[in-house]
Amino acid sequence: MTAAAIAAAVRSGERRAATVTEASLAAIAAGEGEIHAFALVLADGARRRAEEIDAQVAAGQDPGPLAGVPVALKDNLCTRGVPTTCCSRILEGWLPPYDATVVKRLAAAGAVVVGKSNMDEFAMGSSTETSAFGPTRNPRDTSRVPGGSSGGSAAAVAAGFTPVALGSDTGGSIRQPAALCGVVGMKPTYGTVSRYGLVAFASSLDQVGPLATTVADAALLFDVIGGRDERDTTSLDRPAPRLASVVGQGVEGMTIGVLAEYLEGADPAVAGRIAQAAEVLAAAGARVEEVSVPEVRLGLSAYYLIAPAEASSTLARYDGVRYGLRVDAEDTAAMNVATRSAGFGAEVKRRIMLGTYALSAGYVDAYYGQALRVRTRIIDGFAAAYERCDALLGPTAPTTAFALGAKLDDPLSMYLSDVCTIPTNLAGHPAISVPFGTGADGLPVGAQVLAPALAEATMFKVAAVLEAGAPAVGAGS
Ligand code: GLN
Repeated sequence: MTAAAIAAAVRSGERRAATVTEASLAAIAAGEGEIHAFALVLADGARRRAEEIDAQVAAGQDPGPLAGVPVALKDNLCTRGVPTTCCSRILEGWLPPYDATVVKRLAAAGAVVVGKSNMDEFAMGSSTETSAFGPTRNPRDTSRVPGGSSGGSAAAVAAGFTPVALGSDTGGSIRQPAALCGVVGMKPTYGTVSRYGLVAFASSLDQVGPLATTVADAALLFDVIGGRDERDTTSLDRPAPRLASVVGQGVEGMTIGVLAEYLEGADPAVAGRIAQAAEVLAAAGARVEEVSVPEVRLGLSAYYLIAPAEASSTLARYDGVRYGLRVDAEDTAAMNVATRSAGFGAEVKRRIMLGTYALSAGYVDAYYGQALRVRTRIIDGFAAAYERCDALLGPTAPTTAFALGAKLDDPLSMYLSDVCTIPTNLAGHPAISVPFGTGADGLPVGAQVLAPALAEATMFKVAAVLEAGAPAVGAGS
């Protein structure tokens, strides 16, 4: 059942939130042992919350647009009094004293949080294998990764544990796992969704967004979590786009560019699906043309300087004094070193070292400064494409889900799985991944729709047409 259908049934009194919650908890109990989508399941809290919602309905009140809808929250979203670990040892035992703004907004809309979902440690990764709690498996094929870093959220939705989930996307961490698990995932325009209470990885790139089984559910969730928040200084001082009503309006008269660079390294079966997606849009009345934004080829290298540089700064707060883990030693400096050595995993340490180097005196202009100049060129490149096009189309990831362990010891090959998602974060633009058939291995392919800043409405119209015209997962071409 979709989130929209659940909320409608609960609001009308046709279905109890308690029944919906039990169904979600039962699905988790049956499948979680194999999938491991969660760092923490919050069964008691979910049951209490569902009862509150049912009491509201019984009293004639409206619990809101997500009434009784079970959600999974990525474990980098702060939940008051509930462990929030970013799947890192270093945050072991830390209980946030406050809720993230998105968590508050979900609660105010009637949602029921059933758990904190598994993720790559501090959202650094593309497979959910760097989690300190062990990997998540892809529900479509449990020998494969679910993608990452929001792999737990994507797997929870794909496995039918929850109809919707929240993730965060710094370089593709919502869209890439959505693509690999065959669900919808959206990265909003930077500044439209509050980052207050999202544990920072790279603050100029991080954005919270929805994962869902349908484009309409993603729109519903975005409408609840989006909008100005005074607690986030990067929150845009304007209303967020409203999306629920635009789904279904079609693409007639739009010009949509197929992004040539994103097809360059793509698996042939994935590229074939994107060509098929372009045909669907053309048949629906859009003008489809090939477009080139050569600057996006520089995205990956710029990102792997900018994101680690910011991470080396945002992660400096984990010093054994203020949060979570402390490994005692003879003095404070030695305690800091011992805590960080024990608390951070290998990928996080790699990023901190890379970022510290990129920012060090004598190198900062050659590395970090150069990366910022590239970032500006990418923004300009997209702007040129959007003079002609309303939206762009490409694959979300160059391949379908890869095998567990396949890339864990090869960071560069792991990093390459985000080659088609990273430029969007560098530009601050929105993008959405929609399931569009399968690859040669029978696993889901994601079609990615990119749009200019704040053009989420356009993007959702395109996404809905792709969803309606998509070959079923498992169907041949
Ligand atoms: N996979 C990318 C990385 O490892 C992006 C992660 C993300 O979006 N949080 O940095």
